[in-house]
Amino acid sequence: MTTHVSIIGLGLIGGSLALALKRGQGVTITGFDRSYKSADEAYRRGIIDAVAPSARAAAKDADFVILAVPVSAAAALLQEAASWELKDTVIVTDTGSTKLPIMEAADGLLANGTTFIGGHPMAGSHKSGISAAIGHLFENAYYILTPPPGCAEEDLKRLQDLLAVTMGKLAVLDAGEHDKMTAVVSHFPHIIASSLVNLLADQEDSRPFIRRLAAGGFRDLTRIASADPVMWRDITLQNRTELAAQLDRWADEMAQVGRMLAHSDPQEVEAYFTEAKRYRDELPAVSENAAQGALYMQFDLHIDVPDHPGVISEITHILASHEISLTNIRIVETRTDVYGILVISFRSARERNQAYDALGSETDYSMQIL
Ligand code: NAD
Repeated sequence: MTTHVSIIGLGLIGGSLALALKRGQGVTITGFDRSYKSADEAYRRGIIDAVAPSARAAAKDADFVILAVPVSAAAALLQEAASWELKDTVIVTDTGSTKLPIMEAADGLLANGTTFIGGHPMAGSHKSGISAAIGHLFENAYYILTPPPGCAEEDLKRLQDLLAVTMGKLAVLDAGEHDKMTAVVSHFPHIIASSLVNLLADQEDSRPFIRRLAAGGFRDLTRIASADPVMWRDITLQNRTELAAQLDRWADEMAQVGRMLAHSDPQEVEAYFTEAKRYRDELPAVSENAAQGALYMQFDLHIDVPDHPGVISEITHILASHEISLTNIRIVETRTDVYGILVISFRSARERNQAYDALGSETDYSMQIL
């Protein structure tokens, strides 16, 4: 029996889902993207089996409709979908990073008796668009599903069965709880990272050298500020209530830090950092087989290499000979808070660990995974 899946939005997430779902038996995928170029590329690369002329047309005969468009577009499409002609048994889902506004936008659809189950695969990349799509993007990453109240167990199970082939760690959460938790671990840190970068930029005119000092730990700490501003605009606006609540908590926390500085008590300051260190050290680490958390991650290997010409090409040559691809390579000039002169980033813990083994067996450089 053939399962017809329709994917609306063929970017990083939609394209990666199409590639992953095609591993399943008897799955055919019809795609639609408002950018004809993206849809055409998806078709030409065999990522989808057919291109539909509109979202409505793509959804018409589908068993599953997956909206993988930016969250504001997903909310608009869900409202529009209430007037679409759909199969009685269809399951509609999305991939958006916020859930409550999406669930509300699906009210009309649910009132018509159509099944809608929210979805959020917690995996990403520093790239976007169909050209960045990869079939193993979701492996070992949490894939959250947010069924509305009263959703039939059988429908949830059907969607879980479809998505099992992505090898994501499927988990079911209430939509409101999802938004509260992702505000804490992902959306609010994004604002903080961007604000730290803006603070640095504000002071660059008076202290031009500051930019160079930011090359090490500061750059790592604020990496998420380099993500797509349009996607983060939408996420921030959609989750603004939770973000405002986090901002209040943060203001309280900073007020406490302000009092601590005024007291100038060494024990109090040390206790503050000790408490944070204790909790942070106990957070689950991402191992090869563990699920990713809410933040898009990059996996770094720090290598203490001698500063002589040719060392980078020696290392990239070893990695290439083991068919290990890297996403970034850089020399760190400020090393008070990081280890090693060379930092190589990988897309997954698996690739980073393979690189560690390969370089360990062919060089005597000392390496560290932080
Ligand atoms: P993307 O920019 O790579 O792709 C989005 C695609 O949607 C583009 O091809 C665009 O042309 C298309 N599109 C936009 N509006 C449309 C519309 N009205 N109709 C049809 N197509 C339309 O973005 P992405 O990274 O694939 O993100 C897609 C969704 O997945 C977003 O809701 C995002 O919140 C969510 N998400 C992203 C990540 C991530 O790290 N990138 C992770 C998890 C979830």
